[in-house]
Amino acid sequence: MLYNSTQNAGEVVSAAQAIAQGISKDGGLFVPQEFPHYDTATLEALLKEDYKGRAKKVFSDFLTDFTAEEINDCVEKAYTEQKFNGSNPAPITYCKNGGKELNILELWHGPTCAFKDMALQILPHLLTKSLKKTNDGKTAVILVATSGDTGKAALEGFKDVENTKIIVFYPVDGVSPMQKHQMNTQEGNNVTVCAIEGNFDDAQTGVKKIFTTQSVNEKLGENNMLFSSANSINWGRLLPQIVYYISAYCDMVNAGKIKLGDKINVVVPTGNFGNILASYYANIMGLPINKFICASNSNNVLTDFIKTGVYDKNRHFYTTISPSMDILVSSNLERLLYKLTGNSDTTVREWMNALKTDGKYEVSDEVKAVIKDKFYGGCCDDVQTKATINKLFTEDNYLCDTHTAVAVNVYEQYLAETGDNTPAVIASTASPYKFSKAVLEAVAPNEELPSTEFEMVDRLNAVSNVEVPAPLAGLKNKTARFSDVTASQKMEGYVLSSLGIE
Ligand SMILES: *Cc1c(COP(=O)(O)O)cnc(C)c1O
Repeated sequence: MLYNSTQNAGEVVSAAQAIAQGISKDGGLFVPQEFPHYDTATLEALLKEDYKGRAKKVFSDFLTDFTAEEINDCVEKAYTEQKFNGSNPAPITYCKNGGKELNILELWHGPTCAFKDMALQILPHLLTKSLKKTNDGKTAVILVATSGDTGKAALEGFKDVENTKIIVFYPVDGVSPMQKHQMNTQEGNNVTVCAIEGNFDDAQTGVKKIFTTQSVNEKLGENNMLFSSANSINWGRLLPQIVYYISAYCDMVNAGKIKLGDKINVVVPTGNFGNILASYYANIMGLPINKFICASNSNNVLTDFIKTGVYDKNRHFYTTISPSMDILVSSNLERLLYKLTGNSDTTVREWMNALKTDGKYEVSDEVKAVIKDKFYGGCCDDVQTKATINKLFTEDNYLCDTHTAVAVNVYEQYLAETGDNTPAVIASTASPYKFSKAVLEAVAPNEELPSTEFEMVDRLNAVSNVEVPAPLAGLKNKTARFSDVTASQKMEGYVLSSLGIE
């Protein structure tokens, strides 16, 4: 299977090249030229497999330049019981919500307690193997822009991985105290963490610019290094996410919640559009999905886009209690548009250029029609998010984080509007303890808040009786290693100096 750039169909690479490079030289994203097809018999065979078995099947169909042993090795190392606290890294909790069943796909049992671990525990293995195939002997410099969860998950995945260095940038006021503490205490000899003065989009734009600046790339080349990306623009990030939708479907069949062949809806709290795109790709492969319900917080650029076909990032940026979704430029939407335009690199390039110059673009009527048919966009603000956390906790004794709550809220709006009773899988993307303050305010609204982050964790634990995940509890007595803050215009210099190659 070969891959090409969304902005230049003539740029054709292998899976290993796509993963090693992260982003295409023209600034486009790598996409598979075709998708494998999973019919009912294929899905039936997967029912008997565990998560790792399902992952191996999906990886082998997309990474055709990897051997079976290589794929086996990557999967076995990534999804261990120890790292994911059990044999199924992505279990479903079946929860009754006012008589309506919510199938909550918990994607946060990994080492950093957010769904990013599902991909970032395996990406380093895929990447080091890809580098051996394509750029033997070079050190990969992983640049990450994070709204909180990717940064920590990437640091944890790449720490002390041979032939890699990782530099993470996060918006100084745009992550939760727990997220900041997770990153600043990171161990490992190949890691650097730096805050930037600006928001996530500034960080992401800065990173993308460094990736495509020729002089910087030349300097790395002279020093036997090359850039790669652990953001969801990297195909090696997206592919592992397809697996858990297929696996969740199989688990629901095995649990008797649906029959093989039945359609499901998926509800995804969305930021950069990677998670929901993975479900769309699973559907292209044959997974029966009826609707993709795209949930946003007050940064509702995607809600408007799905309703109108106009993507317009010229709007106020809100800092919310679901910070991992505080994003106005959803990078992976580009991959959806490429698919929906019938793989038109010229159209995608035109729209992406308009986004760069005017901050907006409008898609064609044909694309609008498909989006309207398959997607539903909805949003809610912080007050509604907290009300949903409270309702789910008091009525169902289920404690969810702020991002998951946005998804549940938007799903309720969807139900009220459509009455569609197709069984729905709700992607739960983080442990509530990553956002203890907001979650505590939601479940105990009349209490005075304790003053420190870890006191809030303890208080939330006492109120909810929900266990604190060991990786978060273990951070309590750690001191920070990193405290740098830089202007977003100075990221390039920061990268070169931390690599020692100014
Ligand atoms: C990253 C993240 C999201 C958004 O996912 P995308 O793939 O960027 O759309 C939602 N919730 C949490 C907790 C996250 O970390």
